[in-house]
Amino acid sequence: MAFNSPEAPLRKLMGPGPLDIHPRVYRALMSPVIGHMDPAYFKILDQVAERLRQVFQTQNKVTHATPGTGTSGMEACVANLMEPGDPVLVCVHGYFGDRVRQMAERQEAEVTLIEGEWGQPTDPQRVEEALKAKAYKVITLVHAETSTGVLQPMDDIVRLAKENGVMVLLDTVTSLGGVELKADAWGLDAAYSCSQKCIGAPPGLAPVTFSDRAVEAARSRKHPIRSWYLDITLLDQYWGSARMYHHTSSSTLNYALLEALLLIEEEGLQNRFERHLKNHQALVAGVEAMGLKMLIKPEYRLPTLNTIRVPDGVDEARVRGYLLETFNLEIGAGLGALKGQVWRVGLMGYSSSAENVLFFLSAISRALAIQGCKTDLSAGSEASMSLLDA
Ligand SMILES: *Cc1c(COP(=O)(O)O)cnc(C)c1O
Repeated sequence: MAFNSPEAPLRKLMGPGPLDIHPRVYRALMSPVIGHMDPAYFKILDQVAERLRQVFQTQNKVTHATPGTGTSGMEACVANLMEPGDPVLVCVHGYFGDRVRQMAERQEAEVTLIEGEWGQPTDPQRVEEALKAKAYKVITLVHAETSTGVLQPMDDIVRLAKENGVMVLLDTVTSLGGVELKADAWGLDAAYSCSQKCIGAPPGLAPVTFSDRAVEAARSRKHPIRSWYLDITLLDQYWGSARMYHHTSSSTLNYALLEALLLIEEEGLQNRFERHLKNHQALVAGVEAMGLKMLIKPEYRLPTLNTIRVPDGVDEARVRGYLLETFNLEIGAGLGALKGQVWRVGLMGYSSSAENVLFFLSAISRALAIQGCKTDLSAGSEASMSLLDA
């Protein structure tokens, strides 16, 4: 009897993540596993840290890839900066902001919520009022809310945080490596991301960065950090010069992350942001010329994740099923409050390309036609193409 290893289909990934991976990153995954205490491996980790500083635009010494997906980065930031009774201001305008709230409550922080409408960013005026009314230790925000496709404008928020001396904890899971993010210029104290979205590596690692002030706050807590695994002071004894064993770091995943970061360096951050923006604008132009509607107002649209309204009378799950079966194309469903109402189309990292934009437009046009929903594909491709070859 033969045992065949299961074969995964080769998909085109255009959902909220994971996304397609560059062939060079796949090749890096095949490098030999080495020990997590091997001096040669420490050199690789140093390069990962150095390049993560470049994408976060920070000089923060404590900048690592924590083990686990984006959520582990979230947990690392929340668990290190919040302890029981800490007054924290949590801004929620989507699914992931709410996940931060849940984590803050589990740390028994004293949570004040600013709850905004899904599809809108957090209103700086409400932040200003909250900061006037009470002294907070930390404010948390989601830079790129993947559940809605909103990019949070940061200028007013970081100014208010600075004026009030409150630490800023930012979710950059769908922004790092895809849109402008300046950890130092913005005065961020803790930020986390993941390997599998705009960075372009497989899932499994969470880039994090902590300011000196945040590290000091973690070191001088009244209560020990409740997560041993994600205690940044312990993790830093491994990533930093002490090189003390903490956990068995995945060499394979770190090779892939490093290769993805080298690709970012070769492309250049600004070029990369421009590519993401251009492909997003081409997708939006195409979608709208076809007769479909975007969920988010132009000024708040996130270039890396596009939310498109499901037309009336269309079975949205059937569309996704058809795209997957017929074209091997994965797009995302609506999440939480937007379940059934939108599709989420990711244009991140290696997946943010002209050919993917055009492929998506024709594939969805066909998927809708099958359900009797007519769109104008030639107008859509024309509108999109005129931006793509500009
Ligand atoms: C994807 C995502 C997360 C969670 O990351 P996982 O890798 O799924 O754990 C957190 N926040 C935002 C904004 C995300 O898009």
